[in-house]
Amino acid sequence: MSAVLAVDLGGTGLRAALVGPNDDIRSRIGTIPTPSGAPGCARAIADAWEAAARPARLAIAAAPHCDAAGRVIRWPNRPAYEGETILPPDLVGQVDFRILDDAAAAALAAHPVGTPDTARETTVVFAIGTGIGGGAVVGGRLLTGRSGAAMAVGHIKVPAASGLVCACGEIGCLQAAASGRALHRMLGQSDADVFDIFALPASIRDPVLDRAADALAEALATLARLFDPHRLVIGGGLGLSPLFDLCAERFTTGGGRPPPIRHPHGADAALIGATRVSVFSRVLA
Ligand SMILES: [Zn+2]
Repeated sequence: MSAVLAVDLGGTGLRAALVGPNDDIRSRIGTIPTPSGAPGCARAIADAWEAAARPARLAIAAAPHCDAAGRVIRWPNRPAYEGETILPPDLVGQVDFRILDDAAAAALAAHPVGTPDTARETTVVFAIGTGIGGGAVVGGRLLTGRSGAAMAVGHIKVPAASGLVCACGEIGCLQAAASGRALHRMLGQSDADVFDIFALPASIRDPVLDRAADALAEALATLARLFDPHRLVIGGGLGLSPLFDLCAERFTTGGGRPPPIRHPHGADAALIGATRVSVFSRVLA
């Protein structure tokens, strides 16, 4: 089977790679800062498609909530994209195109495939970056909900985030305490590099990170109780940082709950998961 051009559109970066049918990254096309608007994003995707020698299939894992045609329905972190399409118009009719939520893609990538057991198992993923997303494969099937917006775990309310205002306008969301954007704002930083946070003096950094870890552990425990998953996975740039250990040490594994693990595909989770949509629909439909 030919490789798929996979694009990971996040809040701070746009990455593209050619991914083979066995989760093998055949070539990395490139990474750029996320364009300021959808037209620039569409041009960047068209450039990546040309650079990849015009592959027949394009799979996009997107941080914003999009419809099946690639139009951005909602993106509180980048409202300039809302109502615009990120699919290059020149590619319409030339590629087999799929788009899904980036955290849902990360859930697909974290879920083992190929055995009757794994087709019945459940995987829950938290993707922690500029914002916080979630995804779940339940009984071998990706949970999408009515409109593809299921598992918006960044906006569930947690005690540790009490009183904090979220980008969505509500108060007390997980994302208001533990997303990269919230941490940078609370720490007075504008730089998007998550590791800058860990270079700050402990007296400044630790109270903010402790609250973020508490909030994440509370949200993980809620999801573990709701889904009783076989694996609970954390991904995303901030999720794979030292914040992972702070969160994991607060998570209690009572009742046989599995402890959280780092995403097995690391920073490539969304790229690889985006290409698995067709695999899942074929194997498990
Ligand atoms: Zn919110």
